[in-house]
Amino acid sequence: MFSTITNANFSDVMIVESIDKCIILRDTLKQKINLKAPHASITWIPQNVEDYAIQAKKVSTKSFDTNEDLCSLKQYILFGVKGIAAYAQHALNLNHEDVDIFNFMEESLVLLSKETYQEALLSELIRTGEYGVKVMALLDAANTSSYGVPEMSNVSIGVGKRPGILVSGHDLKDLEELLIQSEDAGIDIYTHSEMLPAHGYPQFKKYKHLVGNYGGAWYNQTKDFETFNGPVLFTTNCLVPPKKSATYSSRIFTSGATGMPGWKHIDATLDNGQKDFSEIIALAKTCKAPTEIEQGELTVGFAHNQVLSLADKILDAVNSGAVKKMVVMSGCDARQKSRSYYTEFAKALPQNTLILTSGCAKFRYNKLALGDIGGIPRVLDAGQCNDSYSWAVVALKLKEVLGLKDINQLPIEFNIAWYEQKAIIVHLALLYLGIKDTHVGPTLPAFITPNILKIVQEGFGVQSITDVENDMKILKIAS
Ligand code: SF4
Repeated sequence: MFSTITNANFSDVMIVESIDKCIILRDTLKQKINLKAPHASITWIPQNVEDYAIQAKKVSTKSFDTNEDLCSLKQYILFGVKGIAAYAQHALNLNHEDVDIFNFMEESLVLLSKETYQEALLSELIRTGEYGVKVMALLDAANTSSYGVPEMSNVSIGVGKRPGILVSGHDLKDLEELLIQSEDAGIDIYTHSEMLPAHGYPQFKKYKHLVGNYGGAWYNQTKDFETFNGPVLFTTNCLVPPKKSATYSSRIFTSGATGMPGWKHIDATLDNGQKDFSEIIALAKTCKAPTEIEQGELTVGFAHNQVLSLADKILDAVNSGAVKKMVVMSGCDARQKSRSYYTEFAKALPQNTLILTSGCAKFRYNKLALGDIGGIPRVLDAGQCNDSYSWAVVALKLKEVLGLKDINQLPIEFNIAWYEQKAIIVHLALLYLGIKDTHVGPTLPAFITPNILKIVQEGFGVQSITDVENDMKILKIAS
């Protein structure tokens, strides 16, 4: 399921191979339980290459119900479950799993694969949010028990003189294995996009050759990879298909759920079970050092433990009026012009406002000079998109400390940027936790019908963004 999320895998060959593996597993299991249900998921066997696409149409979220609101809800749930699959896979890579989460995913897929009714789907949508919280907590535990608790850290965005490998995506385990294997190779390792938060983890700081972050958000790949000069390892999404004129394709490697025709996929493993990154390391040694595209530093590492260690300072600032509002601006980023809304929104926020961020959304404003409030940086970066969980933990803790009855009484607003399935599960998790009146944008997901939008708006106060000036008023930020 992870392979099928937006921008993760462009290789039909890899997707077909994954389906074939599932069919073998299914048929092995079938022999053990003697199941005779006549559903295609149990009986279908592809006869040729064309069969996969034909069958996909027969068992999609639009196949079993024709009512467009039911189809909309099914897609909503499916997007959420795909986001859960991505986070569950990352946790599993670090030996953390929860059978309850896998059971939920299976139950959801069964519900989507038959005729059903609206109430059942609405209740499953809320459960999807519940399991979104569970899987993000699981991944948080997996990351922090493996690599330590993130702490405030400055990250260079310049370059050194040695050749480098650029690591993109969300899989910390891949980064760790590459760091171990390249330790004395005379090369440097840089993070890109969603791998930036790795610099906040104590276990990664011990690698002196993890020297900084190069470039911006994922959609800048086509220019960042040209000037990086060395190999790039994609540990997961989001990938951008290279332009015909791209010179870097021979330097790009994928691993895990990702794939792109023409790019090498790392399948081999070493005797110790680690992925074998020797080909990338050998290639890096033959490349030029990265071309400098910017200088300076970013500050990362504000996951929930670090923020809660500053809780007294933040509460003092709230009580004195130095901090009037906190705005969670987590989620994804993409190339569309409409996303400049988030840059303008960050710029327009009054000086007494903190921005709580995570995911690629931060690249719209994390290089702006937004300053600090009494030593607290105005942009607090919790990490990857799944680290939006940190903002829920912080909100629940502040509610408790302040003795509030309702989480919505906190001076925290949520303005979430969505792009793909992981942002959907992050948002559903917030709704499950009772957070109301969230803003999402820059557009609503195409699968949401007017009736389903009405239900979500009436139940949770979800609103689509408008323009910066108007949203400042709606969120009661403008003075
Ligand atoms: S945060 Fe979203 S847009 Fe950014 S790389 Fe992750 S999935 Fe893609």
